[in-house]
Amino acid sequence: MGGVSVRLEDLPIRDDLRGRTPYGAPQAALPITLNVNENTHPVPEAVAGDIIDSIAQALHEVNRYPDREFTELREAFASYLGHGLTAEQIWAANGSNEVLQHLLMAFGGPGRRAFGFAPTYSMYPLLTAATGAEYVTGTREADYSISVESAVEQIREADPDVIFLCSPNNPTGTPLPFEVIEAVYAHARGIVIVDEAYWEFAPENAQSALTLLPGRERLVVSRTMSKAFAFAGARVGYLAADPAVIDALRLVRLPYHLSALTQAAALAALRHAPTMLATVSEIIAQRDRMSATLSALGYEPYESWTNFVLFSGVDDPAAIWQALYDRGVLIRDVGIPRSLRVTAGTESETTAFLEALASIGSAS
Ligand SMILES: *Cc1c(COP(=O)(O)O)cnc(C)c1O
Repeated sequence: MGGVSVRLEDLPIRDDLRGRTPYGAPQAALPITLNVNENTHPVPEAVAGDIIDSIAQALHEVNRYPDREFTELREAFASYLGHGLTAEQIWAANGSNEVLQHLLMAFGGPGRRAFGFAPTYSMYPLLTAATGAEYVTGTREADYSISVESAVEQIREADPDVIFLCSPNNPTGTPLPFEVIEAVYAHARGIVIVDEAYWEFAPENAQSALTLLPGRERLVVSRTMSKAFAFAGARVGYLAADPAVIDALRLVRLPYHLSALTQAAALAALRHAPTMLATVSEIIAQRDRMSATLSALGYEPYESWTNFVLFSGVDDPAAIWQALYDRGVLIRDVGIPRSLRVTAGTESETTAFLEALASIGSAS
């Protein structure tokens, strides 16, 4: 190869991918990284030992393909989720991003339409485009909530094949009323995906969309181990749905898509679910402290049922983002005017963020 490389647009790439930009949350080795909603607490030592042992065990048989049906893992997810779910209603993949991709490959694709209420998870349009469907952007109220009336009207108009309902919503933290899910399902003909990536951070008495599954064969509830479970690097996401939906996903997945090492690690982590989730209440406490201090500094934090806070009242988000960066604190500019998003960290990380922000000055 010579030193001259071609440009992307010179390649015979798919026309519908021309001019697109990839997902690109900045990754920087700063002391305080609160930008992609990870659980910043490391996996507890006792659990880490068991996970390592399980991976080591699996390694002895890594000359063979893994269980293509990951039956044991599906059983473990079913029992973790409860609600009377069984393994035949569970699917899993390398992160819930891949779970969503499988859903789009089976129910979206060329000539079809997916729909989400913006602002919402930035991967929905990207995954939709990569799998060949059109993405239709719906709207929310000024406070990022969604009303039943507006949701039904927008769904009627767009008539989508796949609908994304992020509950609670990323990047705003907004809870999604149960009635909206019921109404959207009732008025849609397509697959309705309720993305509960942050569900473990919701109030304990909140009702998961899992309770809506019986009798709703087009409803899908997706979850991830990336957030509450502190397992983002392991790449494990999963969903619950009607067994027929699972059959549809088998048509599009790659054979053996979940490696033996991933299955072993996830199973070991699930055996210790209560320990793995022990940091959730601490993270919720830091989230609420963060919101209170942001208010005291003159910013306007939005209600959050997640492990992060979106706050507005930021005159120049890019400048504040950079000033925090220069102080060793990485948060996220999600492109919403006058707003920034920050993940709740450990107590000391959260303090470091709040002190760095205060040192920059109060909101105007
Ligand atoms: C983080 C996140 C996911 C999870 O992605 P993984 O691929 O499981 O790491 C899914 N949905 C939303 C809304 C998220 O914020």
